[in-house]
Amino acid sequence: MRIAMIGTGYVGLVSGACFSDFGHHVICVDKDRAKIEALERGVMPIFEPGLEQLVARNVQGGRLAFTTDLPAGVAEADAIFIAVGTPSRRGDGHADLSYVLGATEEIARALTGPAVVVTKSTVPVGTGDEVERIIRETAPEAKAWVVSNPEFLREGAAIDDFKRPDRIVVGTDSPEAAEIMREVYRPLYLNKAPLIFTSRRTAELIKYAANAFLATKITFINEVADLCEAVGADVQDVARGIGLDNRIGPKFLHAGPGYGGSCFPKDTIALLKTAEDNQAPLRIVESVVKVNDLRKRAMGRKVIQALGGEARGKTIALLGLTFKPNTDDMRDAPSISIVQALQDAGASVRGYDPEGIEQARPLLPDVDFFSDPYRAAEGADAVVLVTEWDVLRALDLKRIARTMAQPILVDLRSIYPPQDVEAAGLRWFGIGRPARAG
Ligand code: NAD
Repeated sequence: MRIAMIGTGYVGLVSGACFSDFGHHVICVDKDRAKIEALERGVMPIFEPGLEQLVARNVQGGRLAFTTDLPAGVAEADAIFIAVGTPSRRGDGHADLSYVLGATEEIARALTGPAVVVTKSTVPVGTGDEVERIIRETAPEAKAWVVSNPEFLREGAAIDDFKRPDRIVVGTDSPEAAEIMREVYRPLYLNKAPLIFTSRRTAELIKYAANAFLATKITFINEVADLCEAVGADVQDVARGIGLDNRIGPKFLHAGPGYGGSCFPKDTIALLKTAEDNQAPLRIVESVVKVNDLRKRAMGRKVIQALGGEARGKTIALLGLTFKPNTDDMRDAPSISIVQALQDAGASVRGYDPEGIEQARPLLPDVDFFSDPYRAAEGADAVVLVTEWDVLRALDLKRIARTMAQPILVDLRSIYPPQDVEAAGLRWFGIGRPARAG
């Protein structure tokens, strides 16, 4: 099969590289010339474990190539995937479809067919209809089918997720399109990954419903964590106690500073807009969005409380800045709101992250960046663990305690047992357990 992947970001690059690893011939297209030139030199534009080797192997094998020339990529393809961004539209929070529809117009002008045009980007219900309309108007002669195939990979584990998905969702009413999609995913189908065929609109909604549900689960346990702090219970034990129930499941029950990242914040808000437009309100998701927004800033207040209620003139070191480990993605990371709250309260903020500093720099003005967590902690009044990178899981806490101005550790990811923190000479503050007096 010949596949064109339009948009070579976190999703497009990983999907394109994995498809080529299955033996398909893939051309990854992006309008960002610097990105394509870097990829041609073997330099990855993002940090994703295993990606560089996967790309190199398939480029060498002659199955994966990169270009800025969209028409050339589209002309040859049996399947054209749209994997461009769908950020929040400024002002109203609807999904900004300008990249998807812009790419569609370019595809339509280059299309000869027969081919499937597949939206892999997360798009609101009905976007497939609009993509189809543009294609029919621009290329009435071309034999093409518009399919929805939302992507569920997680950054940081993207390759494994793509190659071993829980399910593949394909939205189309056309048997011919379904047959091409079966061919595209045949290697995974042989691995017994469930392939779910449904209508295009249903497929579009599945993606939003999945993300909204996961965001709800996280927000639920975060609120339970607050209650645990108030009543002297332990949220980790509560999470284990409920998560072992098969009907609930243990995942997404880690209380923390609130969800962030490139998907949950924008997708929950876009889903609410769809619900509002269709007069079918989603009140639970409305609450989730509100609670999560408040929580991110509340984490800044938690740090200030740990400092005795006054942050002015204090130095605070944030360890881990990306929205989760194993990615350099800073989009909507909780660290952004925490830094803002601390700076608003008059604190100086330092930041350490193993991979995200370059992406963090423009988003976190006036933060001093460090490439070593111990250096970041030296002379600080508080250290805050914001992202649970592996390198932060076995810190020498005694060494940190010795060099700090005040030995305070705020563990927003419950990485360390409070007794270990206190045995190292640090005062522990965290999530979902009352801080000890003293
Ligand atoms: P991204 O911003 O990393 O990448 C998008 C790329 O598309 C950019 O490189 C941009 O230059 C390129 N682009 C835009 N318009 C183009 C055009 N007309 N022609 C060629 N290239 C064009 O975005 P992403 O994180 O990969 O997300 C893509 C989509 O996938 C979004 O809808 C997102 O919601 C969805 N998604 C993302 C994830 C994730 O973990 N990042 C997971 C599942 C789904």
